[in-house]
Amino acid sequence: MNDQEIQAQSSCADEYDASSLSVPEALIRINREVLPLDGHELVAVRASLGRVTAEDVVSPLDVPAHTNSAMDGYACRGEDLPLEGAKTFRLVGASFAGAPFSGSVGADECVRIMTGGVMPAGADTVVMQERVEVEGAHIRFGSGNETGQNVRSAGEDILKGAKVLDKGKWISPAELGLLASLGFGEVKVYRRPRIAFFSTGDELKSIGEALRPGDIYDSNRYTLYGMLTRIGADIVDMGVVPDRRENLQDAFRQASKVADAVITSGGVSVGEADFVKETLSSLGRVNFWKIAMKPGRPLAFGRLGEALFFGLPGNPVSVMVTFYEFVQPALRRLMGMTEVDAMMLRVPCSTRLRKKPGRVEYQRGVLFRGEKGELCVRSTGAQGSGILSSVSQANCFIVLPQDSRGAEAGTVVDVQPFQGLV
Ligand code: AMP
Ligand code: MG
Repeated sequence: MNDQEIQAQSSCADEYDASSLSVPEALIRINREVLPLDGHELVAVRASLGRVTAEDVVSPLDVPAHTNSAMDGYACRGEDLPLEGAKTFRLVGASFAGAPFSGSVGADECVRIMTGGVMPAGADTVVMQERVEVEGAHIRFGSGNETGQNVRSAGEDILKGAKVLDKGKWISPAELGLLASLGFGEVKVYRRPRIAFFSTGDELKSIGEALRPGDIYDSNRYTLYGMLTRIGADIVDMGVVPDRRENLQDAFRQASKVADAVITSGGVSVGEADFVKETLSSLGRVNFWKIAMKPGRPLAFGRLGEALFFGLPGNPVSVMVTFYEFVQPALRRLMGMTEVDAMMLRVPCSTRLRKKPGRVEYQRGVLFRGEKGELCVRSTGAQGSGILSSVSQANCFIVLPQDSRGAEAGTVVDVQPFQGLV
């Protein structure tokens, strides 16, 4: 076969499936079901790290509170500074951070001032110390200075009464500092979502158990534990549940009683799905979807009682991809966050990517800097949905659209960086 024949053949063997749901359609259906939790709590500022603000945060003060110096130097009146040549000023005091000068600065007078020191009354300009000559209490300023230079105005960062954080903001270290700078001791945040999860499969063994032929260790509970912990959920690990009707029913029932959302892995592929479907439909409203994506085609979503339910596929990479694309935005919404979309970049890919049209693919990639310092991405190699090491090597997903037939080296592709979650 020549190249064209190979191409013709592979385009026949595409993966279009009319009964599949597209990723955006699935996201819309999920989003419709998810509302922010209704519980709030007041927590100490440090304890709010990774939580979500449950109300707008308004500044009780100006930041900075006082007009102050941005440099170590001398504060004076800008109008007294020489336009050319040099001029001597009289040193009348000092203003250090935390120890302001109590007098005021008059004509041809100056005050020693350090970074953060409160600007003395009368002064509006700071000349940096590197640009003066000091002779005892006589300070010589040259030309080339401008009125108002090196001064930070009160309220220049934040004005009293201004909104500093919107309701629904994820609190990161920058927000902790911001809250502390405003003197807040506590913050009102959404309560943490409680997530119960378990693995299904007779072949699954927990660490410490002996493997019989055909058995494998349960890894999904570990990746899920990691992602749920990083997202800030309160987790309930329910272990491995065998593929037996009574066990599954018990587990689903127990999970939906204690949790805001239930996440399972395995048991949603064709054949197995019938069995799980029957169990779930007797307990709640759950839809089984085929999604036009790879990996991660089968997905179950719905409600068990009040709890949201996500039935993720069993393959280890599929679990991580479907969590990233569907569970993550849903949980963030549940947690009260208003911005839930994953960051997307457009980056040239240095390797050739193979793909058949029909499904969106989330290939594992590595973002790196090319020879000229430019951002590039490359594939991690083999892309099987059981190859968990591909996720470990990756720092991003390369997202190839449904109709794409792959990408030649050098083409620009869409990339979702993991951003610390995966
Ligand atoms: P299933 O969707 O249950 O048919 O599982 C699909 C594939 O994923 C099978 O090869 C399973 O052995 C594997 N798998 C299912 N659950 C897990 C798990 N918790 N950890 C690792 N592999 C799993
Ligand atoms: Mg299974």
